[in-house]
Amino acid sequence: MHEVGITRSIVEIAEKTARDQGTTKVLSITVDIGALSGVVPEAVEFAYEACSRETLLEGARLIINQIPGRGRCQKCATESDIDRYTFECPNCGNFGLEILQGEELRLTEMEVD
Ligand SMILES: [Zn+2]
Repeated sequence: MHEVGITRSIVEIAEKTARDQGTTKVLSITVDIGALSGVVPEAVEFAYEACSRETLLEGARLIINQIPGRGRCQKCATESDIDRYTFECPNCGNFGLEILQGEELRLTEMEVD
């Protein structure tokens, strides 16, 4: 469950940003989680309530934006959807896909009072 540590850092970053802005209440935060990031969104959701307790984020809604994996073949340039276990080009079978998206793990938005 390394998601607990990840969730805690997301909460810390959001709280620091809120404090820097002089905000005392955060209404919601939006987090991008890529399919290739190795982070399970459900586990982050699960950890969030405990991690946000007694912070400026207590009671704030957590919105998770799941980013699908996309890759591009370095041989034939075909773009395809990829997950954590498929790194093979569906067109030519080459195992050398450049990852275009899906490794994201970041706080993208924060709604404050
Ligand atoms: Zn290919």
